[in-house]
Amino acid sequence: MLRVAVVGSGPSGCYTAQSLVQQDAEVRVDVLDRLPCPYGLVRYGVAPDHEKIKSLQGALRTVLEHERVRFLGGVPVGPGGVPADLLRRLYHAVVYCVGAAADRRLGVPGEDLPGSWPATEFVSWYSAHPDAADGGYVRGARTAVVVGMGNVAVDVVRILARGAAELSGTDMPEAALRALAAGRVREIHMVGRRGPSQARFTTKELRELGALPDTEVLADPAEAALDPAYRDPSALPAAARRNVEVVRGWAAAASGAVTGRPGRATRRIRLRFHLRPVELLARAGRVGAVRFERTVPDGDGGVTGTGRYEEIEAQLVLRSVGYRGVAPQGLPFDTANGTVPHLAGRVVRAGAVVPGVYVAGWIKRGPTGVIGTNRPCAKETVTSLLADAGLLAGADVPGGDPLTALRAEGVEPVEWAGWRAIERAEAELGAALGRTVVKLPDWESLLTAARAGSR
Ligand code: NAP
Repeated sequence: MLRVAVVGSGPSGCYTAQSLVQQDAEVRVDVLDRLPCPYGLVRYGVAPDHEKIKSLQGALRTVLEHERVRFLGGVPVGPGGVPADLLRRLYHAVVYCVGAAADRRLGVPGEDLPGSWPATEFVSWYSAHPDAADGGYVRGARTAVVVGMGNVAVDVVRILARGAAELSGTDMPEAALRALAAGRVREIHMVGRRGPSQARFTTKELRELGALPDTEVLADPAEAALDPAYRDPSALPAAARRNVEVVRGWAAAASGAVTGRPGRATRRIRLRFHLRPVELLARAGRVGAVRFERTVPDGDGGVTGTGRYEEIEAQLVLRSVGYRGVAPQGLPFDTANGTVPHLAGRVVRAGAVVPGVYVAGWIKRGPTGVIGTNRPCAKETVTSLLADAGLLAGADVPGGDPLTALRAEGVEPVEWAGWRAIERAEAELGAALGRTVVKLPDWESLLTAARAGSR
């Protein structure tokens, strides 16, 4: 009987556990997470107004409640937590499903000015991640620039543009809801360095911007038309073609309104293309504008600078230029891609497979794809792992429950009962506030609720 540790309880960790118990009738799986709450980015990344995607938690819950799967929350693996070596000794195999925990940087002057944030920190804050601080994101801001044209950019633009009435029905923490409700951001520029056919967002997400109440979406036809596929998108892959068609619709309705007269809506979202950030400019000690260089296509899918510049005023800048993986302790790491080198999920160091260590999800293939992409990715890894089962079973792994050994090291995990208690506390908080479920936003309240539930 194999004992497997899965590190990370986001979609890739849960799909890995699911695939393991589906394909092996005896395996026992511990899913470890440094947070007391499961589900990774489904809980702390999917936007609170995306209830349908969030409802995936139901499917992930079924996995973690499987009789041969155990959730162990509040267990960091690596420096300051459970040493990776120890985990390796306690289990026949360890699968790292730790995602991509850091952000890519722009690498331009002024990037770290007050008022300029990685978009993912803003996401963490309104998602109640216990490590997130209230950065005072929208305080005093009238105009925001969001750099990047991916789905995270669309998420943060949409949350900035939504009114409090629309957000109060979500599980957003109360402090974030109040801050956003009191915010005065009226202009949001979402800026891409390439054209609409090269944007990374999905059309469903893009279209949602056009459906926001009291908000108009504007795009400049001339700017968008620098993209050679803009005028005739028929040869594009379906997803890119649909994106271009949506942008064309907005550009036609606005008839050049990026600089033109605004309509009557309270808020405006301006899609800007072919502008690459070159500097964030300070005003009174914080960000006041972003300086962009205009770009043109280089004929090779990329862009080249034109030496012409434009400044866009902004008191809030959210840099949404992608996630980046962080090296798990003791594992080989490809710093260029932010991933762990692997062969079909088996970790590889200097051309040789590292026995018993596997990867799945973003740390394996990079921060791309939608949640469902993790399912085949996890399956591939599990197929490799189970093909190695004969070798793994021969490893010198102590009998008995690994949790006993972890406890001996001072680890006191939040088990499933503790997590269920957090869920109950969030429902009670929601009821007390006259809302539905409201997330607990800090370590203390999470751990207090979990402990009360474990007693
Ligand atoms: P992403 O899809 O990789 O988009 C990153 C964006 O940043 C691209 O537009 C990219 O432009 C731009 N960028 C990168 N470096 C830049 C630079 N130095 N200057 C200016 N722009 C730069 O990343 P993401 O939005 O963080 O999303 C990550 C993953 O999560 C994606 O797979 C996404 O689909 C997924 N996700 C899905 C949902 C959903 O389904 N609702 C929600 C959130 C996230 P270039 O293309 O020119 O490089």
